[in-house]
Amino acid sequence: MPETLRDRESEPGRVTPSIAEPLLFERGRAGRKGVSLPEWDVPRCRPEDYLGAASVRSDPVGFPELSEPEVVRHYTRISRWNYGVDTGFYPLGSCTMKYNPKIHEEIAAHPAWRDVHPLTPEQNVQGCLQILFEMEGLLREVSGMDACTLQPAAGAHGELTGMMIVRAFHEKRGDRRSRVLIPDTAHGTNPATAVLCGYEVVEVPSGREGILEPQALAQYLDDRVAALMLTNPNTLGLFERHVTEIVERVHGVGGLVYCDGANLNAIVGTVRPGDTGVDVLHFNLHKTFSTPHGGGGPGAGPVAVKAALEPFLPGPRLRKSEYGYSWDRDLPDAIGRVRAFYGNFGVILRAYAYIRSLGASGLNRVSRVSVLNANYVQALLKDAYHVPYPVGCMHECVVSDKNLTPFGVSTMDVAKRLIDLGFHPPTIYFPLVVPGALMIEPTETETKEELDRFCAAMLQIAREAAGDPDLLKRAPESTPVSRLDEVRAARKPRLRWEPVDA
Ligand SMILES: *Cc1c(COP(=O)(O)O)cnc(C)c1O
Repeated sequence: MPETLRDRESEPGRVTPSIAEPLLFERGRAGRKGVSLPEWDVPRCRPEDYLGAASVRSDPVGFPELSEPEVVRHYTRISRWNYGVDTGFYPLGSCTMKYNPKIHEEIAAHPAWRDVHPLTPEQNVQGCLQILFEMEGLLREVSGMDACTLQPAAGAHGELTGMMIVRAFHEKRGDRRSRVLIPDTAHGTNPATAVLCGYEVVEVPSGREGILEPQALAQYLDDRVAALMLTNPNTLGLFERHVTEIVERVHGVGGLVYCDGANLNAIVGTVRPGDTGVDVLHFNLHKTFSTPHGGGGPGAGPVAVKAALEPFLPGPRLRKSEYGYSWDRDLPDAIGRVRAFYGNFGVILRAYAYIRSLGASGLNRVSRVSVLNANYVQALLKDAYHVPYPVGCMHECVVSDKNLTPFGVSTMDVAKRLIDLGFHPPTIYFPLVVPGALMIEPTETETKEELDRFCAAMLQIAREAAGDPDLLKRAPESTPVSRLDEVRAARKPRLRWEPVDA
């Protein structure tokens, strides 16, 4: 074994030999080949004669030269270090890591969609435009809103688009407002969005029940408030029961209500956010409407608004007439374009297929089963793990490490041990209002048996905390790299196998 590996057998970040391999570039040997072709039987040509000397490089590219099995093993091995929804249970709270039916991949990969160039004249891509147009309609129907744009590329991008619309709305009326109210349970992207739009963020504490109390909100409401950004259900997995009264109060001081719809999986087909009175809403198609996601993409974060805000939606807007579908670019009040072309078409297509294949009753079942599954998990875990808000939850439940801290065991240890037991850990240390939070979102696509297996692992860990806390401190032991020093791994990532401080 090379010296540098033996050095690292001690914690943290112990590396197992199986993954200690050089980069492909370092492994290459001149002349090694993955294919063998017959001898040339035609005269060799000089590329310069055809392309011109200026287009032909003189220095070698330096691609590694490797045998076929070396390449196959390299990529197959890397793919197996990955963990995804197709390999196992993935209860990452707030992220809705549901299983994505493979039929959507086939549809998205069909040449009729896949090979269309985005600059094709609109009369030649009427089918694509029809999908986009109908998708806007489906999202309006699901959300109870009046108008929709499919442009934003992710949830956070949708938030930015939505809040730019809010700002444009107030500015158009000559109404100068400086503040955005955000509950303490909000996703970090909410305050980030408000700040990017030039607003001062005011944090509003949630009440004892983990939701926003209209009375408590009242003291923050005045004519400086541009908007309240509300996530419903919130990140504690609780439905904001007072939403209609809250909306009335915010409207009462001339503010708007932005609904972060990333948690729509809990209510899709059951509650329409538009009916609760909110003015702007973003969807996470890649969460609620099924697209493989993680590792930063791809996603889609459409934004829907009430009629009063429609003029401010980004352009171009899709219109339908007797001649077919066309783009309307004559939009004097639009905030402008927020993305190249017309959104992440492949993601929109998958979501379209998902909605059309489930229909209204199927979507209703999605939210009902996702809520049932989360409550089932909460019920099985509630004796071993502290449940900060012991009420019925929506699509995710939040437990904490409070019962384990007497043994010196923390949420981090639970998460690491879950990896050894074959599960992706839930979201940890979020939401911030719960110390040592574990936020579990099982989604509707898991069977009861899978939920039982996960809960059995969680209960085993709680027993181990009392009996053998050191075991939890060492975890994970089954992974290519053992527990890392998280801060150093983030600040000083070591991406290749070299001596630690060389
Ligand atoms: C995921 C999420 C977002 C951000 O969505 P991205 O697509 O990751 O940008 C915003 N708010 C909540 C509540 C979320 O769960």
